[in-house]
Amino acid sequence: MLFIKEVGNNMPIDPEFMNKSTVGEHNGHKMRGEVKPPEKLGVHGTSVAVDHDVCEGDGICISVCPVGVFDWVDSPGHPVSDKKSDPVNEPACVFCRACEVQCPVQAIKITEI
Ligand code: SF4
Repeated sequence: MLFIKEVGNNMPIDPEFMNKSTVGEHNGHKMRGEVKPPEKLGVHGTSVAVDHDVCEGDGICISVCPVGVFDWVDSPGHPVSDKKSDPVNEPACVFCRACEVQCPVQAIKITEI
């Protein structure tokens, strides 16, 4: 019998996330999409966008970012993970895309704007 491990909601960040309305700001970056804490947290950031409803709190982005764009934010009660990577230093991004490539659940989209 084959067992497949469910990982998060199995959906990557929506590549069209910028078409969604901005619903507020958090730690100096914009939030888009549906935000109803603690279950729905939306997409955080613009040039460095992290879908907090996809993020599993793996932390590889924090490890690989050469300029310290990310920091942890607690998300108690969220159905996927109780901590998220947050692009708190978004303007520092040098667009190397290491985070986007390494994220195991494709929660990150980098856009040079
Ligand atoms: S693209 Fe590179 S510099 Fe920008 S947030 Fe990701 S890892 Fe950091």
